[in-house]
Amino acid sequence: MDFLNLIRENNERHTVSKEELGPLLEQAEKTYKKHFPLTAYFERSIFINWTCSIADCKYCFLSTKPRHDPKEKPTAIRSPASILAEVLICKAMGWRVGYITGGLRVESIEYLSNLISKINQITGEKTMMNFGPYTKSEIVKLKPYVTGMGSAIESFDEELHNFICPSKPLKSLMKFLQNLQEEGLQKLITIILGIGERKEDVEIVIKKIKEYHIEKVQLCFLKPQENTVFDTVPAPNPNYMVWWIAKIRIACPSTEIKVALVRERMEEIELYLKAGANGFSRFMVFLDFNSQYAQELEEGCRRVGRKLEGKFTEFSEIDVEKLVEELPFDEKLKQKILPKAKQYYNRLEKRK
Ligand code: SF4
Repeated sequence: MDFLNLIRENNERHTVSKEELGPLLEQAEKTYKKHFPLTAYFERSIFINWTCSIADCKYCFLSTKPRHDPKEKPTAIRSPASILAEVLICKAMGWRVGYITGGLRVESIEYLSNLISKINQITGEKTMMNFGPYTKSEIVKLKPYVTGMGSAIESFDEELHNFICPSKPLKSLMKFLQNLQEEGLQKLITIILGIGERKEDVEIVIKKIKEYHIEKVQLCFLKPQENTVFDTVPAPNPNYMVWWIAKIRIACPSTEIKVALVRERMEEIELYLKAGANGFSRFMVFLDFNSQYAQELEEGCRRVGRKLEGKFTEFSEIDVEKLVEELPFDEKLKQKILPKAKQYYNRLEKRK
């Protein structure tokens, strides 16, 4: 089958009329208000590497990078000091750490446990991981450090999934969700709109959210990546995302919904929140702090009566040296974290 053509055709059919959206939005907003407070949050995704041992999912940026050989020592990984510094500044600014993420099966489980336990010491809570499927025994080893784990589910259609992710079978993702459920961990799924789903597939997604008791859903748009087969596939229209949020909100009232918020779609924040989204990710906070985008974000939240957690336009002085000094880590690590934390802080300071 010509899957690429099918994806293009599906994306062209992804239209939602105002008449269709209006009543749905009203119902979704009511449902949200019944189950959640009038707030909105930002969750920073913390990337820990730039390589993947799978590296052939057709839409993914990491499929354009050299594949990591699990037998080799990983090279394209970020230093723990840089990761911890970013977490520290996020915490100081009131931004949540959504999860740590990156390519799959790059670091050892021991390395990850160690890193996550340090992140937890900074945030004061357990962290979420979003890399893709781990085996049951790996989940058991990571369980003491994490609230839960997640994965992108590229499609619930096995054939299409095999086309998009030839080395990451749908079955392994379903097994992963089942294992997380058995271990009592939270489950996060990421649905990327525009990579082959049809509008009616929202029903399958809703069915799976209920079946696997998914606590959190992250909705993203295909962002066509250069040098992938998707680079000329058009992303679906904005109302389509709003429609998906509203449908999921109404059918799954207490599931958290997070949307990927990019510059080009900033003005849609209001609609996303009305449709029942709890929060958002992907906002380039260190680049767009106190920018027109940050202002649009705050205004959008205000207009729908949601209080936005954290600071996006208001700069507050932080004593970075003191923050780092107070960390419960050895001196050597603190010395490595300090310059990195200053770099992150300076990026914000420049934009004050
Ligand atoms: S496993 Fe994840 S990170 Fe790796 S190529 Fe696939 S989608 Fe990208």
